[in-house]
Amino acid sequence: YLMAIEVDVAVLGGGPGGYTAAIRAAQQGKRTAIIEMSKLGGTCLHQGCIPSKSLLRSADVYATLLKAHTYGISVAENAISIDFDRVQQRKDQTVDQLYRGLQSLMAKYGITIINGKGRIIGPSIFSPRSGTVAVELADGEMESVVSKHLIVATGSRPRQIPGLEADGRYILTSDDALKLESLPASIMIVGGGVIGVEWASLLNDFGVEVTIVEASDRILATEDDDVSREMARLLRKRGVKILTSVSLKADTCKTNESGLTITAGSGEDDLELQASCMLVSIGRIPNTEGLGLENTDIRTDANGFIVTNSFYQTSERHIYAIGDVIGGVQLAHAAAHEGIAAVEHLNGEKPDAIAGHLIPRCVYARPETSSVGWTERQAREKGIDVKVAKMPFQAIGKAIVAGETDGFVKVIADNETNDIIGVHIIGLHATDLIAEASLAQLLDATPWEVGQSIHPHPTLSEALGEAMLALDGASTAF
Ligand code: FAD
Repeated sequence: YLMAIEVDVAVLGGGPGGYTAAIRAAQQGKRTAIIEMSKLGGTCLHQGCIPSKSLLRSADVYATLLKAHTYGISVAENAISIDFDRVQQRKDQTVDQLYRGLQSLMAKYGITIINGKGRIIGPSIFSPRSGTVAVELADGEMESVVSKHLIVATGSRPRQIPGLEADGRYILTSDDALKLESLPASIMIVGGGVIGVEWASLLNDFGVEVTIVEASDRILATEDDDVSREMARLLRKRGVKILTSVSLKADTCKTNESGLTITAGSGEDDLELQASCMLVSIGRIPNTEGLGLENTDIRTDANGFIVTNSFYQTSERHIYAIGDVIGGVQLAHAAAHEGIAAVEHLNGEKPDAIAGHLIPRCVYARPETSSVGWTERQAREKGIDVKVAKMPFQAIGKAIVAGETDGFVKVIADNETNDIIGVHIIGLHATDLIAEASLAQLLDATPWEVGQSIHPHPTLSEALGEAMLALDGASTAF
């Protein structure tokens, strides 16, 4: 070993979970280090949230230009074209700008960044209650990091289909898709979850022929039935093919110059599918391989995710785990909040446990969807006596002004207690609108109280306020 670095808190993995935890630890005066084998920012900054949203924005601009005439603007259709190199460059610049910001944030807080692959080698020789991480540095040298507390935030990677492993040309993961040098003529998207639907929307906007192949009976299967049905309707209206309750026969996949063919379905209903390439977006698996968990008592569940208590402590009490590597809600803001809760706990505080269903969920397709709380189906399954109101954006001035009236706000409340049970939005800027619903649930506001707060006119936020009032028959908007 080259040397041993001693800190109070070592964070393994520098994604949104890890770097947020590190900042909070530094704010509390702890000597903090992040061990990162790739680039600070993690999946979120380099393969997830940010680059995909940059591409979606370019696709949105293109789609808007194609219907510019509906706003009274004439643009000759042959004057509009996609410069995909520039689209990719803009994405890279966006990532770069945030990457530099993140690096200066680390410097500001005096957080030590150790570039290398970390492996837990067990309780430290300096103190049995602390952890030691061996780090293989980029140049092959080894370094060891000794800390009182360790936070594992190593994230996740795309799950592959056995027999249909990604090759970067015919079969792509979402990581590969971000690196496409040109747009394919057609694509088969396997898995109609968040990532699949976002890619379907953006590639369809870019003129790619898109087919979604989904094994369950609907896309966005974890969202409220009404939202998932509306998203399917809107995507189909744009020409996206959606096949549900269909599974692929991996051993039938054949490739040729123009792409691939594969059989889907079963028995008589077999379908022959063909596309230039395939994007596999069927979920993510935790990054625990080579982590040295065998040197600890840390437990993992049947799917390999690290098991923690509600303060994110693993079975080794001085080792915490947060973010995608523990499963649950695999979103950047969830990872960040878990990171903060873990640091507060190791600092001797008792942070409130985070209720998983109160973490907002977002899909950045066109239109966007967002939700917080239970779906109507979940609420009914829990035996809650629900009341439901739906406010269509068609009735909202700002949506008409924007020329984007698809979708609605759906609010579900408990008839007895008057608690807000869930809010589900599909429509323009849905992902920004959900923040108010999230605050309302945090403050335990009643629908009536949310409706009483004055929503500026004309804004899309009126849809939420009016939906809340509509629960008591008090909306004046319709
Ligand atoms: P990660 O961000 O995965 O970071 C883990 C880090 O640990 C990585 O940098 C990795 O290199 C490092 N690491 C792993 N093992 C080691 C090791 N042994 N030693 C050293 N370093 C190691 N979420 C949202 O909230 N909004 C979105 O819009 C959104 N869009 C997404 C789009 C796509 C295409 C994808 C794939 C994901 C998206 N997500 C989105 C999910 C989000 O990216 C993740 O939930 C989030 O990044 C998880 O953060 P994390 O800190 O747990 O892990």
